[in-house]
Amino acid sequence: MALAARVPDQDPGGKFRHMIHDEADKWVDLIIDEVFADGKSPTVEQLSELFSKTKRKFFGACFQALIEQKYAVMLGQQYAACPKCGKMCKKRRDGAKEMETMQGPSALKRPWFYCVGCSHGFTPLDKVLEISRKKYQFDVQKKSTRTAAEVPFSGGSELFAELTGHAVGGHFMHETFEEVGAFARLEDVIPSREEITQRVRSAKKGSWRPVLVVASDGAHVPTRAKAKRDEKRGKGQWREAKGFRIYLLGEDRIVHVASWHQIQNEEQFGEDLALVASRIRQDDLRIGLLGDGADWLWKHMAACFPKGRQILDYYHCAEHIHKVAKLQYGDKSPKCLEWVEGTMARLFYAEVDNVIWGLDRMQPRDDEAGEEIRKLIGYLNNNRERIHYRGDRIGGYPIGSGGIESANKFICHTRMKRSGAWWVKETGNKMLAIRCAIYNGTYDKIFDKYKKAQMSL
Ligand SMILES: [Zn+2]
Repeated sequence: MALAARVPDQDPGGKFRHMIHDEADKWVDLIIDEVFADGKSPTVEQLSELFSKTKRKFFGACFQALIEQKYAVMLGQQYAACPKCGKMCKKRRDGAKEMETMQGPSALKRPWFYCVGCSHGFTPLDKVLEISRKKYQFDVQKKSTRTAAEVPFSGGSELFAELTGHAVGGHFMHETFEEVGAFARLEDVIPSREEITQRVRSAKKGSWRPVLVVASDGAHVPTRAKAKRDEKRGKGQWREAKGFRIYLLGEDRIVHVASWHQIQNEEQFGEDLALVASRIRQDDLRIGLLGDGADWLWKHMAACFPKGRQILDYYHCAEHIHKVAKLQYGDKSPKCLEWVEGTMARLFYAEVDNVIWGLDRMQPRDDEAGEEIRKLIGYLNNNRERIHYRGDRIGGYPIGSGGIESANKFICHTRMKRSGAWWVKETGNKMLAIRCAIYNGTYDKIFDKYKKAQMSL
């Protein structure tokens, strides 16, 4: 016996193998009862349902057995060093931990130690296994937060339960989302300098410097003030989520670099854009700055990308032109369409002065048309240096920010503008940040930061 104990283990997972056999037997018994009883002829769907219902228990038990064998030494540990003072402490008791992973429910009894000097209780195995204090473990938390980024918390938890078998409640989903969202800060949501350099390299074609497009925009998000549970919520308010999308025009595709949107003022927008700009080696690129007429947006884009070519978004510009045509000539009338086409063609060839000259001489149909004509003249005057679409085309620059329009739709509208949804600013910004992280490919990094912080609590 003493000799046998010294022989190295020939079959390191052997005990696990036996445990699994036992669990498999239990599972097979369950299945046999359900399937082979007299008169039963289950369909594919019924069989699949049966597997879904039973596999959680089976895999949960396997999972537990695996941990019990793999960490047998730690589970039998009698003494452990206090993580605060290093003093050896004796085990006080076995603490039970109920947990749920994506594999199903497991229960773990692991030794609990207590340091009298530090008044500190600890379970060393939890650190090694990175066990969350919550019942639902990090793998579930990561997926439930990912789900909450797409669908509302209440319906989302039902959907999550339906698809995964994990009955996480709406409250758990929301709370975990808020906690993860606290780590979705700009510096981590935006890819690192190395990652951005990598993306630039992948977009490069021959000796041409790739075109980097910086497109900024604002989108309105319904917000409300934070209210206590029994307080009246008060009137909501539409606030502007200011954001940008940065991407590269590759040979035959767009290479996404970074997106960032927040409900914030223009100074904060400027600071955020500056941080991203500092991670981009601008000398290696040709830079196109795209935006609508808003002054704040040009001010900050020009400051962050001084060599950028400023381009007034063609489609936004067309919208303004269309508005005047509609009021002056009637919606969709032949004259209306003709005028829009002619005017956009002139603008394409940078004949801004001609267009303004024509507008000056237009006889407004009514006061409303007159007002819009006046506004359009101001708009074109303000942006005259940014209208040179033909030159943009020749130089390989984009003339419209289709890029940011789709990013806005994807990041803001689909989740933020659901009917009846009013956002507290902080939660709204976490939502925007996590959605940007998913889009930017940095969600894993954000979640790891959250996990590390949870583990050090
Ligand atoms: Zn201690």
